Amino acid sequence: MLQSVPKEDNYRHKGLRRQLVQQLREKGITDEKVLSAIDAIPRHFFLDPAFEKQAYEDRAFPITAGQTISHPFTVAYQTQLLDLKKFDKVLEIGTGSAYQACVLAELGVTLYTIERQRALYDYVGKFFFLNKYLNIKRFYGDGFEGLPTYAPFDKVLITCGAPFVPPKLVEQLKPGGIMVIPVGEDGKQKMLRIKKDVAGTVLMEEMGDFSFVPMLQGKNK
Ligand code: SAH
Repeated sequence: MLQSVPKEDNYRHKGLRRQLVQQLREKGITDEKVLSAIDAIPRHFFLDPAFEKQAYEDRAFPITAGQTISHPFTVAYQTQLLDLKKFDKVLEIGTGSAYQACVLAELGVTLYTIERQRALYDYVGKFFFLNKYLNIKRFYGDGFEGLPTYAPFDKVLITCGAPFVPPKLVEQLKPGGIMVIPVGEDGKQKMLRIKKDVAGTVLMEEMGDFSFVPMLQGKNK
């Protein structure tokens, strides 16, 4: 459960986090800025206290409303693929627990993040740790629509399994921008990195197999 009051982040948590960072390095995460962001964020703040002991294992966990917080490896891998620069304008689809959002914010980007589940959107609004990041702007809406008012974005990250690449999100990507999106159904996705070149031509690369909760159409009250 996300807490509305500050929690402790002690030497034991920090030690476990350092070990997690080492594991991520061994699994192929090479971007030191991404590893430092993982090292800086108390993942146990984002989980139900029942899972606190396992917060620094490379595992996904249930959060509220039948959703999950992604594996640390998945978060690190997607973030690394985005090749973020400080002050990049980034769109995230699927705020969930806001753990990935905090990793992005820690890297100094301006983040626009959309969640389709009202209960989850409201719940994250009470989370004390988000007060640390004034560079996170949260929206309740349907990720298939993106945020036309704030477009274009330097980077777009989808953190749920998309049945196809949403055309509006490609439109909202800047020329020279990067989108990272898991595509596929039934909990089986291929990670795609999509680059739009300066002429607006779209190039796709396949980056491996992952498993996400589904990207669903429309908002849920
Ligand atoms: N980034 C999250 C991962 C959460 S799981 C984290 O770090 O915790 C994926 C999330 O995507 C879920 O919360 C789900 O409700 C949301 N989602 C699914 N379809 C969506 C859509 N069309 N628009 C916005 N959010 C969506």
